[in-house]
Amino acid sequence: MPKQDGKNRREKGKLTIIAGPMFSGKTGKLVAMVDVFTRMGHHVLTVKPSFDTRYGNRKEIHSHDHKTTQALVIDGEVPDEILQKILMIHADKIIFDEVQFFDKKKVIKVIKELKKRGMHVIVAGLLYDYQRRPFGATSDLLGLADERLELFAICQKCGSLARHSERMHGGKGQVDVGAADKYIAVCEKCHKIYQ
Ligand SMILES: [Zn+2]
Repeated sequence: MPKQDGKNRREKGKLTIIAGPMFSGKTGKLVAMVDVFTRMGHHVLTVKPSFDTRYGNRKEIHSHDHKTTQALVIDGEVPDEILQKILMIHADKIIFDEVQFFDKKKVIKVIKELKKRGMHVIVAGLLYDYQRRPFGATSDLLGLADERLELFAICQKCGSLARHSERMHGGKGQVDVGAADKYIAVCEKCHKIYQ
């Protein structure tokens, strides 16, 4: 690879973020992106946290012609190890799905480094947890992003645009992976925190 100064390298990379509550269509947008990227001949890699087993193997990001992207599962590695694993795959479009589940400091470090190396990083995740607190690295990444898309769901109580996820039942931990069985999308006014 030709030598470049730091400035040029930084300009080459890009960070795109898709943020929104559950049921706001983040995965649909990722699928649309993967579709276009693969048609353009890009090599797409999806990086996922190990415990996001919500839909088992069915939650793969794939293009509309049903080709799944290559996936890498991360389970507690330090940033250098994560970086090495990603770089070994030689992808140029790197997707971090459910980015709120990654360790905040680690994932920001890895993403900055990938960007510096000229890669296009796409992250998708929840901005808020069920108590309306910032969730993981998502809001920090929103500030760092070159392209931002904030999606809304529809409030299941009043029909307004919804930016929050309400946990109907379950534990008190910030992470409690589930889907329609445990969560609904609600607007700020309707949102309740059950203790
Ligand atoms: Zn509402």
